[in-house]
Amino acid sequence: MSFEPVLLARINKPDSPKLEGYRADGGYATFERALKEKKPEEVTAQVKDSGLRGRGGAGFPTGLKWTFLPKDHPGPIYLCVNADESEPCTYNNRILMEKDPHQVLEGIMLACYAIKSRCAYFYIRYEYGTAYRTLQAAVDECYAAGLLGKNIHGSGFDLDIFLHRGAGAYICGEETGLIESLEGKRAWPRIKPPFPAIEGAFRKPTIVNNVETLACVTQVMKRGNDWFKSLGVPPDPKNPRDAGSYGPKLYTIAGHVNTPKCVELPMGITIRDLVDKHGGGVWKGRKAKAVNPGGLSMGFVDVNAKLKDSDLTEYDIPLDFNGPGKVQCLGLGTAAVTVIDDETSMVDVLHNVCQFFSHESCGQCTPCREGTGWMLKIVDRLRRGQGRKEDLDILVEVSDRIGIMPGTTICGLSDGAGWPVKTAIRKFRAEFEAAIKGGGKSKYAKALPLVGAGH
Ligand code: NAD
Ligand code: SF4
Repeated sequence: MSFEPVLLARINKPDSPKLEGYRADGGYATFERALKEKKPEEVTAQVKDSGLRGRGGAGFPTGLKWTFLPKDHPGPIYLCVNADESEPCTYNNRILMEKDPHQVLEGIMLACYAIKSRCAYFYIRYEYGTAYRTLQAAVDECYAAGLLGKNIHGSGFDLDIFLHRGAGAYICGEETGLIESLEGKRAWPRIKPPFPAIEGAFRKPTIVNNVETLACVTQVMKRGNDWFKSLGVPPDPKNPRDAGSYGPKLYTIAGHVNTPKCVELPMGITIRDLVDKHGGGVWKGRKAKAVNPGGLSMGFVDVNAKLKDSDLTEYDIPLDFNGPGKVQCLGLGTAAVTVIDDETSMVDVLHNVCQFFSHESCGQCTPCREGTGWMLKIVDRLRRGQGRKEDLDILVEVSDRIGIMPGTTICGLSDGAGWPVKTAIRKFRAEFEAAIKGGGKSKYAKALPLVGAGH
């Protein structure tokens, strides 16, 4: 099927971040039309009916989230844009912010109009200096053109957008950690409920949406719901709770591939197609062994494991909101596909992963703070050839127990720290056992730093 990118359509144009170029391509006409012709509730209804699900990782229905705001609230109501993109090998938001910031800003304007917010905070990770400067220039252009500020185009609608730089912590991407950080505090996630829609920034109703989600809002309002639903994967008829995986999606391809890049495709592409057709295949003529389907916290896919009653393998699963769950991974996550080649040590890969989560745990909850540290210590022992037979079962048990599902922790970081551990041990157990038996001697190479355009 031929597919024309929409979210990335403008990124290679000269001066793509400039207002003039965006205007020349029809930019802001959708927002201006909505101001004149639509009530805020109609914008919310359209986004809800489009089936758009959040692109930050959890896939929560966007329009539905907006309807959770209290009715007839006197305000203020806030929109927080989550641009604290820190999941390893994830850089889809960065591309949008650096190359087509006005597409994102138009989505913010439409969202704020829909939820009756007059103030949006754009929380951007500190390391994204170019994106920050590009966005600030784009926001300044909008103020100068009367697209932001008081009484926009005589509509009576006011809107301000403030950029706020993060301070280099993964936990600031958790929405309530982000809000705490925005308020000037340590980014300790809050216990939910109340969800931010009821009590968020400065204890006021707040919607937190991801950058790519807001770019999708622009496209949904511009092109309509029939277009959006013509792409992707409809709901599974056998699952009445499935909301489908509609629309275009940005996938980032990283790790041991020939051409790491960010591509836009309809939801539902398989890992195999993504890596072989779009990522230039596995590097150095090697084969893939494992893949993270959507950021480290989703766990590992074993590309050689056969799917039940099929000739296909886990490499052939579709990357929609349901696909990774069918092979015991947590979900689609950020759709950042990281490939591990067949000459690389899974023990060493897992050591990198455990280091990351142990370092990034905010330390509030004992199971997460201690559990991520224990997992790192055990995997370090395995890596140094001092592993014990019982270590593998202990690792799986710890990873199962620190998850948010048993209700032991405040946020999802601990769950995300557990999935790569349990999937690596369950799916590549023989390699871990060989590492214990070999006492440090391994036929596999150390894990090289992961190659990706973002990290
Ligand atoms: P979540 O499922 O708890 O919530 C998703 C969204 O829906 C939130 O905005 C939440 O407020 C809202 N929501 C859910 N139930 C609600 C209710 N009953 N009432 C009102 N609002 C409700 O997920 P999460 O913890 O926000 O996000 C987890 C995901 O974040 C993971 O799947 C991971 O992929 C992703 N993640 C992304 C990055 C990145 O760099 N983009 C980094 C780390 C993690
Ligand atoms: Fe902090 Fe971990 Fe608890 Fe999340 S689960 S609040 S990261 S200690």
